[in-house]
Amino acid sequence: MTQKPENTPGADRAFGFGTRAIHAAAVPDPVTGARATPIHQTTSFVFDNAEHAASLFNLQTFGNVYSRISNPTVAVLEERIASLENGRAALACASGMAAQMSALLAILKNGDHIVVASTLYGGTVGQLGVGFGRLGIETTFVDPSDPEHFAAAIRPNTRALYAETIGNPLVNVVDIVALADVAHAHGLPLVIDNTVASPYLCNPLDLGADIVVHSATKYIGGHGTTMGGVIVEGGKFPWDNGKFPEMVEPSRAYHGVKFYETFGDFGYTMKARMEVNRTFGAVLSPLNAWLLLQGAETLHLRMREHCRNALAVAQFLQKHPQVAWVNYPGLANSPYFDLAKKQFRAVDGQPGASGILTFGIRGGAAAGERFIDACEFLSHLANIGDAKTLVIHPASTTHRQLTDDELQRAGVSADMVRLSVGIEDLDDILWDIDQALARAAA
Ligand SMILES: *Cc1c(COP(=O)(O)O)cnc(C)c1O
Repeated sequence: MTQKPENTPGADRAFGFGTRAIHAAAVPDPVTGARATPIHQTTSFVFDNAEHAASLFNLQTFGNVYSRISNPTVAVLEERIASLENGRAALACASGMAAQMSALLAILKNGDHIVVASTLYGGTVGQLGVGFGRLGIETTFVDPSDPEHFAAAIRPNTRALYAETIGNPLVNVVDIVALADVAHAHGLPLVIDNTVASPYLCNPLDLGADIVVHSATKYIGGHGTTMGGVIVEGGKFPWDNGKFPEMVEPSRAYHGVKFYETFGDFGYTMKARMEVNRTFGAVLSPLNAWLLLQGAETLHLRMREHCRNALAVAQFLQKHPQVAWVNYPGLANSPYFDLAKKQFRAVDGQPGASGILTFGIRGGAAAGERFIDACEFLSHLANIGDAKTLVIHPASTTHRQLTDDELQRAGVSADMVRLSVGIEDLDDILWDIDQALARAAA
């Protein structure tokens, strides 16, 4: 299984992010000498003998049984991301949506309640608001600009707070330290979706969060090729505080195991693995884990370029006559600049604010659609975090089902264009934006 700390090379030296992005959890294959992590494309693993099989099933020995539970290639990705997030243990899932679902279903059941930011990714709003509602789990959406809004919404049956480091598509930044204080004052874990910041720019566990989730589909994979998600546990939350009896009492879903007592600071991850992923099945394939590992190896290089290019694009747009407003947390006049400075790694002396920005195009929705059609190599699609620069007009695509009222609440105006700035040459990105703005105005 994945929680063997001795698998991380150099436990006696604090290696830097880039070194861990390339090496954490990966050692040359002891059988073949292969330097790259092998793709263990197998469903099952042979037991040494009957006693070995029994001890694996009893969770007394760490080892592999069946790839829905654990797989050696997937385990390298899990340990790699746990290392990059300064976490204790991790669990990979089929997608970002699956990671959020497993992260929350490990601690929520029918009758429970969660308080979440209203500015979440649209898919997450649907999952928590509608999908979890069907399971009898209630969600309250609050404006995340003030942590007191979370505190005010907490009830006796609340079991977690949930927010995104940087919201998508609003590009708002939340105060993780303040949210963690609110959560812990109420005996609750803080779950943070760190997809947009990536582990390179922000480590929410260091700021007080208890669980981090990622859509690895975005920056971790980084090339728009592979779906995947990861859950990372910090290992510090006191699950025996009375609010989480299923972490403490014998598990009905798995052989009467007491997850917190048996596995301690990775008990939550074991519960998510054995009770949620094993039971509901949204697991990552070994091939996808391998592709995401390829991405992880250059995460630090790509994130620096994304930040540099995005800041330059934001500054360019701010001065452009066709542009009414620009929202990028890395701009000194952004309302989120101070939080970005406090929470994000610096890139070239500026807060590294990732690659996503939005701007308002003069001429409203019609100009927004003309702009997108006029782009030469910027790709018009509904993804973020790719090496390629991506562009979308939310009001006519991802958010077109919403009424004017709902659009306003989601903070999506008709003139809003979202860019996921890639790592092409900056001059070329600026050229394409400039010529498309000119054609949109004509
Ligand atoms: C894309 C995204 C998700 C969902 O991830 P998938 O891998 O597409 O399932 C969740 N949160 C955020 C912030 C995202 O951008």
